[in-house]
Amino acid sequence: MLTASPPLKVVGGEREFLVLEDGRRLIDGIASWWTLCHGYNHPKIVEAIRGQASRLAHVMLGGLVHQPAIDLADRLCDLVNLGPSRVFYCDSGSVAVEVALKMAVQYWINVGRTGKTRFISFRDAYHGDTTGAMSVCDPIDSMHAHFKGFLLEQFPQPLPRDDVGESNLDQFIAERVDRIAGVIIEPLAQMAGGMRFHDAATLARIVRTARRHELIVIADEVATGFGRTGTMFAMDAIEDNADIVCVGKALTGGHIGMAATIAAGDVCRAFDRSDPTAALMHGPTFMGNPIACAAALASLEQFATEPVLERVAQVQSILDRELSPCASAANVSDVRVLGAIGAVQFTGPVDVPSAIEFFVERGCWVRPLRDVVYLAPPFNISDESLVRLCRAVGEYVAKDELA
Ligand SMILES: *Cc1c(COP(=O)(O)O)cnc(C)c1O
Repeated sequence: MLTASPPLKVVGGEREFLVLEDGRRLIDGIASWWTLCHGYNHPKIVEAIRGQASRLAHVMLGGLVHQPAIDLADRLCDLVNLGPSRVFYCDSGSVAVEVALKMAVQYWINVGRTGKTRFISFRDAYHGDTTGAMSVCDPIDSMHAHFKGFLLEQFPQPLPRDDVGESNLDQFIAERVDRIAGVIIEPLAQMAGGMRFHDAATLARIVRTARRHELIVIADEVATGFGRTGTMFAMDAIEDNADIVCVGKALTGGHIGMAATIAAGDVCRAFDRSDPTAALMHGPTFMGNPIACAAALASLEQFATEPVLERVAQVQSILDRELSPCASAANVSDVRVLGAIGAVQFTGPVDVPSAIEFFVERGCWVRPLRDVVYLAPPFNISDESLVRLCRAVGEYVAKDELA
């Protein structure tokens, strides 16, 4: 509390620009934690929010429903492509993860298999800040490490990056499969845990190994969903799919908080019982808020009608071209780019407050994570702004190398 710099006051936003109270405009290099995929104040999304607010701003989703919730569920099921599936609405990514974990555990209870209550998670993972989600984050490096003892013990494993990794994971699961409900993974990009990427082959190994032991696969696409890694969902990179998918962040184009947990038919069937205790008892008060649903529908409409993913590919190539020279600096160990994410890995921790100040002085909003300076801008950022961001990162690398 004593070391944080005072926050900058934002009074407006437009595309990739934040407008500060003193009139300065900053290029947002991280899209407000990767949510604003179509930029700030997207006219179509704002219009959808305004229109819905004037008709029905909120209604509980218990025993009542509304058209935007029905339409959005249909759209999400089509896009996520789990076959016949169902959508559970909630209000944040962490809760979407809680619901996914709870669904997986209850699936096993409902089919009469007791004791399958734990999860395989991965090193460097980040799944949110509620206690269940915290328990599947990286146990050592995550921001939750000092809550050990309070959190449920899970089974964090290294990513199976090769055949040896796969056989190790396979053996680890085989030895305790009676206690394991499922596997949870951020497909292709572990973002808040340090902007670390893995390839489609690694992801396929995880899903294949889970299938071999009939575990439920949860894909946490809260960060990766809606184009961030180059495809609509990161799971699109492999043939197989998850059983449960969590989405959030960019779901509403980042304009308003909302998340969802989407479950495949095989999972849902275990809940199709007349026994009331077989129901999934979870009900976030603001689940399926109509304004949020309307914003999400407007955001998905952008993906359907505009070349958004083509733009992500262009952003990727600019990030690649502009950030790769950083790799030769002595203080940089790696530069990696995936979709609209570019990360410069430093050899040691970055002084975050002074780095933020450095970027603000150059008209950029960039907020490093421990030892990584990363960019994850809105997709509709101009080439010019994107190059400016990358050059600011380059200048920071050079300054830090001399220090
Ligand atoms: C941000 C994030 C979450 C948590 O979402 P909140 O809306 O902050 O609760 C969960 N999983 C991943 C992969 C995330 O990036």
